Amino acid sequence: MRAIAKTEAAPGHIVEIEVAEPVLGPDQVLLRVSGGGLCGTDLAIRRWDADIAAEYAPAFPHVLGHEFAGYIEALGAGVEGMTIGALAAVTPHLNCGRCYYCNNGRHALCTQRSIMGCHAPGGLAERIAVPADNVFVLPDGSDPQLAAVIEPLTVATHAVLERVPIGAGDVALVMGAGPVGLLHLLVARAAGAAAVIVAGVAADATRLALARQLGAITVDQDSEDLAAAVRRVAPRGADVAYDASGHPDALAAALPALRRGGRLGIVGYCHATAPFHSLPLALDEKELIGCRAYNRGTWVRSTTLAGALADELRQLVTHVLPFAEIDQAFTLLERRECMKVVVLPDD
Ligand SMILES: [Zn+2]
Ligand SMILES: [Zn+2]
Repeated sequence: MRAIAKTEAAPGHIVEIEVAEPVLGPDQVLLRVSGGGLCGTDLAIRRWDADIAAEYAPAFPHVLGHEFAGYIEALGAGVEGMTIGALAAVTPHLNCGRCYYCNNGRHALCTQRSIMGCHAPGGLAERIAVPADNVFVLPDGSDPQLAAVIEPLTVATHAVLERVPIGAGDVALVMGAGPVGLLHLLVARAAGAAAVIVAGVAADATRLALARQLGAITVDQDSEDLAAAVRRVAPRGADVAYDASGHPDALAAALPALRRGGRLGIVGYCHATAPFHSLPLALDEKELIGCRAYNRGTWVRSTTLAGALADELRQLVTHVLPFAEIDQAFTLLERRECMKVVVLPDD
């Protein structure tokens, strides 16, 4: 069968190749992949960043894809309660299920975790066999391409509903106008935010326009002072904020825009030192909260949300390309000329 794989431990080398068909084991589900999303993690794998290479250390050829969905084609021994032909989203996290964190429902913090598409073979293939525990069956009529964006939607769901919960009537600030930032916008609106402010830079003009279309108030930080712009909407400052940019300057920009006692979730991974003044943080009792991926329970909420947000999610999927055009998919991603790019095994 065909798959998108990285073939060497060096920059580049991501191609469509033939790999062996998956073998369906007990307690597993065989999926016919309907599509997979690409994100910054895939770009880092493509560049073969040193930290990624050290952490993931996959076997080559390494099949990519941690954001994917598919149709259930067969059930392994011992799997019950799932219907052949149903569309399902998949959590790519292979948790140990036994550590302190797994036992306390904090799967994001599992000490023995590996991730399909990162450490283990991923879902950018015609078929994949995955543990039945990782499968979340979607309601009838779900859109197979939108199913591929449920993984990043689950990241936003974890931050907005679980780690830094937003209250009805709150004002939220989202740093970053990429797909993850706009997914935070959608979840915050669904959770009853009075207003959501999405902050970007001049280069994000197209993305900020889409954010406005999806109901955000937007700020271009290259031409406007963020804290002042936020206070025009929320005179005390934003109640909650989420950094979906991972930019080293995001914390210093967002903290003054937060009200006293406000909470800021750090979602984007910043690989540099991010300087900010700690005194206002202490005096105003603001809180910085780490947000990592999701727990298993988060998927139950996000798969339900995906149905409610179908029309909005459709606007985030700007490109759907066949596996054969994987180079083009990565070029779009690299140039940020897209929101979400979904690739499909079909021609
Ligand atoms: Zn991703
Ligand atoms: Zn664990």
